[in-house]
Amino acid sequence: MGPGAVLLLGATVILQSASLRETVAALPPVYPWVVFGVGLLLGWRFKRSQLVVALVVLFVAERALVFFPDAGPSSTGRIVSAAIALALPLDLAALAWLTERSISSLTGRVVLGLILVGELLAVALLLRPEVAHVAQALQHVPVGLPWMKMPQPALVAFLAAIVLAMMRFVLRPTVIQSSFAWTLIAAFLALNGGNPASTVYLATGGLVLVISLIETSHRMAFSDELTGLPSRRALTDALMRLPELYTVAMIDIDHFKKLNDQHGHAAGDQVLRLIGSTLTRTEGGGRPFRYGGEEFAVLFPGKSTDEALPYLEDLRETIEASSFVVRGGNRPKARPEKPVRSSGGLRRVAITVSIGVAEPEQSGVDPEDVIRAADQALYRAKQDGRNRVCVAE
Ligand code: GH3
Ligand code: MG
Ligand code: MG
Repeated sequence: MGPGAVLLLGATVILQSASLRETVAALPPVYPWVVFGVGLLLGWRFKRSQLVVALVVLFVAERALVFFPDAGPSSTGRIVSAAIALALPLDLAALAWLTERSISSLTGRVVLGLILVGELLAVALLLRPEVAHVAQALQHVPVGLPWMKMPQPALVAFLAAIVLAMMRFVLRPTVIQSSFAWTLIAAFLALNGGNPASTVYLATGGLVLVISLIETSHRMAFSDELTGLPSRRALTDALMRLPELYTVAMIDIDHFKKLNDQHGHAAGDQVLRLIGSTLTRTEGGGRPFRYGGEEFAVLFPGKSTDEALPYLEDLRETIEASSFVVRGGNRPKARPEKPVRSSGGLRRVAITVSIGVAEPEQSGVDPEDVIRAADQALYRAKQDGRNRVCVAE
């Protein structure tokens, strides 16, 4: 769900309440300018052309709806609104499907620029009396639903766009992709509502995109790409918020270099992912992190080493008992003359880990020192023959 649902709900509540609506009516000029201003700045600095273009499109739509107020059937405002209601969802859906690479290439930019300028020209053309019948058709509102002010062609465009955006989200479930679906819903509410609802909803749609960008950047910094576990930076952060009593476990895969050499780096990565997901099932309140390379850390806030030990022992046994199946690496460099008998390329590998555990000796000890002590215990676990848990002395 994310912030999209919350923000849209908030906007709807504000617009529904008469007194709040009046207050908001005084605000709209500020809200979209702040959202789109900040959003464009962030999108530009973070090199997210997809979001920059989406925000520009939303902003142009928002300005156009303010500039050409709806003054009844066949008025300029009504035609502009109907044209935006048709084009905006399709633009947003197309943007959701474009990749950063396709947008930032020269061809991509030219094509996108031509489409957007073409749309503006098309709206201008629609206002000509010669094509009044087209403009008329675009405004056709299906009768029957009192709250539905959306013209029929636009309704079809919105339905298609929301389905497209959701398909994209299924294929690529990122925060940004889900925010595109929410922004489409915001755009629908905007164009079904008239002013000031249109300004509030379109700016809120932009805000959903901006927040998803910030959230994505935060995730990139605080979670490890390979395993999906919180990263070392997240551990540093967590170390600052610990209670007085806690336990740190440092976990290192045994003979991981050999595994890489025998089965290839890709297989090594696969094992790291599998171990990462095993660590997320640590019991006793243990929070796993990827410390770096083939080393992990598990924090047990509020637990002494004695209390954490059984859970770590469980973890070590679980990893020892699981058989990790990896896709074969070490492919021959040259193509063999005869096809080699393939076993599906799947191999079973045995993995063990060594674990070093420590707790602060007294209150006020620097958590980095506790990590160092756990590291020394880990070193001893390796010396003593690996596949074991050692507690700092
Ligand atoms: P030990 O039992 O003493 O820990 O032996 P080891 O081979 O696991 O230890 P060592 O520190 O010598 O090797 C760690 C290896 O982990 C070296 C490096 O190639 C591999 N490695 C580190 N990060 C990654 C990664 O992200 N992916 C893969 N596939 N391998 C990694
Ligand atoms: Mg290591
Ligand atoms: Mg190792």
